[in-house]
Amino acid sequence: MTLLRTPPSHERFLVDVGSLEWRRKAACRLMPADMFFPAGVTGVACEEAESAKAVCRTCDVSPECLDFALRTRQEFGVWGGADEEERRAILKSRRA
Ligand code: SF4
Repeated sequence: MTLLRTPPSHERFLVDVGSLEWRRKAACRLMPADMFFPAGVTGVACEEAESAKAVCRTCDVSPECLDFALRTRQEFGVWGGADEEERRAILKSRRA
């Protein structure tokens, strides 16, 4: 069991994210983290996000990564092939 703290806005402050072993297989493991955290969602940042998503599409652990980001309410960056707006939409659709 691995407990992680979520952002204060999240109703569950601690989330059990289980094993984090999947991170060893991450396609982005040796890439610059900045690539996955563009500053904003327009212009150049949008192009950077698309580059990151292209890497995610080749990643064997993309489902695990997205699940982690959703469960821990990651607020920024590209995780599991989804940017912050896409993750918000996924969470909203799950609540509907
Ligand atoms: S899905 Fe993307 S962000 Fe997640 S581990 Fe794979 S390459 Fe990295």
